[in-house]
Amino acid sequence: MSDIHFTDQILIVGAGVIGLSIAWELAGLGYSVVVADRSQPGSGATRAAGGMLGLTAEVKFDEQDMLELEKQSLLMFPEYVAALKKDSGINPDYRSKATLVLARDRDDAEALQRSFDYQKSVGLPAQWLDEDEIELNFPSLRGIPRAVRCPNDHCVDPRRMTDALVAACKVRDVTFVDDVSASSLITDEGRCKGVETDDGRRIFADQTVIAAGAWSSQIAGIPEFNKPTLRPVRGQMIAIDTGSDHLIDRVLRTPAVYIIPRQNGRLLIGSTMEEKGFSEEVTAGAVRTLLREAWRILPGIDEHPIESLFSGFRPVSIDDRPLLGPSLVDDLFLATGHGRHGILLAPVSGQIMACHIAHPQWTQQTYPAFDPRRFSR
Ligand SMILES: Cc1cc2nc3c(=O)[nH]c(=O)nc-3n(C[C@H](O)[C@H](O)[C@H](O)COP(=O)(O)OP(=O)(O)OC[C@H]3O[C@@H](n4cnc5c(N)ncnc54)[C@H](O)[C@@H]3O)c2cc1C
Repeated sequence: MSDIHFTDQILIVGAGVIGLSIAWELAGLGYSVVVADRSQPGSGATRAAGGMLGLTAEVKFDEQDMLELEKQSLLMFPEYVAALKKDSGINPDYRSKATLVLARDRDDAEALQRSFDYQKSVGLPAQWLDEDEIELNFPSLRGIPRAVRCPNDHCVDPRRMTDALVAACKVRDVTFVDDVSASSLITDEGRCKGVETDDGRRIFADQTVIAAGAWSSQIAGIPEFNKPTLRPVRGQMIAIDTGSDHLIDRVLRTPAVYIIPRQNGRLLIGSTMEEKGFSEEVTAGAVRTLLREAWRILPGIDEHPIESLFSGFRPVSIDDRPLLGPSLVDDLFLATGHGRHGILLAPVSGQIMACHIAHPQWTQQTYPAFDPRRFSR
């Protein structure tokens, strides 16, 4: 096998939504970019994702830095998908209808009240609805005592977004190399020169970005991953084909489940959060629980066939924050650890990484909470 030299080029390892958004951004700034994936673009967590831009509904206590990052990305979304659509000709199915978070019983209502109070305290737009208001505005939802309407929580179809990103990258002359699995870094005097692959090839490039999702820490030689800083968290999903019965027009969620509408009457029901390593299986227990919980708010799903069952691995870091920026090895950058919010964070991640690469001095001090080197100092 011969070596490959990408002279004056940036190599991105991993063609998930994060690697692709970085590639698109860098190519827009005039960089020559190569994206290498061990399989096909979008075959990791991105393929399994719900695509909720769930900033308000999923806000966590005391994560102000994450909230700011997510807000920045959410604000970028309308223009981002419009530009993607223009460049690629592919519609990523961005939907801007408000998400509804439903309480099915008193326990849910109490939890909802707590997060509603927090949402309001940090200035997030959220609206409390009682049973009458729910029935009046959403007649298909019966017997739901309380709900919170999150007007800024929208959604997108990550598979369509991937197709759009790949096509848009190609318009900007990004090169794709599929079926190449990076196994270790090539370094020389503390500088990254590229990666070695599973089949013994060496790929050389000027700068390397590791965006291999939950698998990033399996690539040998990255100091930030000498400790167990990144792990896969499995999520299982069910796709239902409702044909022309458009049961919902927006994301519905409860503390136990979410249901997401897709084009052509598809509905996604998800998801679990499981520490099972890289085991891909879909379990009977998860399917039973997800279907039962979805049925409690949308009994109409009973009539329709299951189209597919699948799972994916969220790349989760030990402090639940992404790693975005330079590593301790010169010319090596890391962009992973986006956990439950990689789709939401894709636009801002592309922008931040492009800034790190284009203006290293300016960005050294920016976004310290997401600096990958925090794990190796
Ligand atoms: C069930 C589920 C539901 C989710 N729902 C949402 C949601 O509603 N909203 C949201 O914002 N986020 C959601 N997420 C999270 C989101 O999917 C991830 O954060 C995001 O997709 C991560 O993107 P990535 O590009 O970092 O990783 P991935 O999409 O996993 O891409 C990594 C890529 O790297 C490639 N690769 C791996 N190892 C190598 C190697 N050694 N060499 C070369 N290539 C390699 C893989 O083939 C893959 O294509 C969900 C995730 C799951 C699993």
